Amino acid sequence: MALTESVPAAAPPAHQGILRRQSLRESAARTYARSLPIVPVRARGLTIEGADGRRYLDCLSGAGTLALGHNHPVVLEAIRAVLDSGAPLHILDLATPVKDAFTTELFATLPRELAEKGRIQFCGPAGTDAVEAAFTLVRTATGREGLMAFSGAYHGMTAQALAASGGAQHTSVVRLPYPYDYRCPFGTGGERGAELAARWTQSLLDDHKSGVAGPAGMILEPVQGEGGVIPAPDSWLRRMRELTAARQIPLIVDEVQTGVGRTGAFWAIEHSGIVPDVLVLSKAIGGSLPLAVIVYREELDGWQPGAHAGTFRGNQLAMAAGRATLAYVRDNGLDRRAGELGARMLARLTSLAGAHDCIGDVRGRGLMLGVEIVDRDADADAHGARPADPRLAAAVQHACLDRGLIVELGGRHSAVVRLLPPLTITDEQADAILDRLADAIT
Ligand code: PLP
Repeated sequence: MALTESVPAAAPPAHQGILRRQSLRESAARTYARSLPIVPVRARGLTIEGADGRRYLDCLSGAGTLALGHNHPVVLEAIRAVLDSGAPLHILDLATPVKDAFTTELFATLPRELAEKGRIQFCGPAGTDAVEAAFTLVRTATGREGLMAFSGAYHGMTAQALAASGGAQHTSVVRLPYPYDYRCPFGTGGERGAELAARWTQSLLDDHKSGVAGPAGMILEPVQGEGGVIPAPDSWLRRMRELTAARQIPLIVDEVQTGVGRTGAFWAIEHSGIVPDVLVLSKAIGGSLPLAVIVYREELDGWQPGAHAGTFRGNQLAMAAGRATLAYVRDNGLDRRAGELGARMLARLTSLAGAHDCIGDVRGRGLMLGVEIVDRDADADAHGARPADPRLAAAVQHACLDRGLIVELGGRHSAVVRLLPPLTITDEQADAILDRLADAIT
């Protein structure tokens, strides 16, 4: 039986919302034991069906990979067309019609400066591979070694990407404060906090004893996703662009998670108008299959295309699925729609936060939303933030699962409930997601 796109009825909650429970820890353990693992057997759009017949609204979307949701007809059709054509499924380095079509479609979506003069390098197959390629590119182009990254970032799981994510120490990577309104590194959020964070970076760059001066590149996410859905203020992004441009430091923007319409613009960099030297792309550009590329300014091209080897670069099926996804998002204005729907969802989450002390903060951009769960009994710090409550967040996650809603946790303490629904969701589906989340928290 094919799955429909309609909102499946929520299964009756096994027990009351988390705030009515006596022991969150115990109920979380019970819920977890009963609801997991989900064995998904069918999926369509926002909906996943488990082997037990239960249906779930999937707000994880493959961590942002599924811009069009599960098994979108245009994606399936594109994959089938390659299969039926008899084209080689794997061919190294040669231009094929599928690769050309993907590249043309991708470049049609890019800011003019990159579209006209950008070069593309297929990496792959994961976002991490593209991050590594970006690091190699800027190091080769500048002849320098050090990298600048930001606290709370996530760039992947290889040694260098982990170091840039704060998951491992590495002498060549320096981490700098990222503006975070709720847990402000400088005691104040908003424009003032962003300006103070920018000045911190500037002073390190100007201090030759800091060990930061003259790095090979700076890498940042316009919205930290895994880090807890933290949108960087546009003013701060512009300051990072100015600081790096003035010192000939290549700026690498990692849009692995924010790309392809998710934040309400086709690329998140469009909100601030910055044009990076290197754009790192993966996830949604492969239309649910593994694909990763970097697009970079031609001036950096001391590094010959093809020098970044890797057997599984530019998979034909992924490029076909990716081209179909890019075109569908563009032709149907799904980026704009994500911005409008995301703003409405954020407004409802803000009301929810007003009614529940356990929600410390809600934030996001477009259909990339986060709800930070805090210890409602703890004292707030001088700036109004309370300690993250990962145990309560896990209980919320499990209560959501009970109600047929799949959400992911993120953030430094795994206490941010993340909502990343497909860009194709209807208003009714958006309401169903928020109804279930509200019911899980109440
Ligand atoms: N960069 C960002 C911003 C990400 O969110 C991720 C994954 O979540 C990566 C890089 C790594 O991508 P992958 O898991 O495909 O290696």
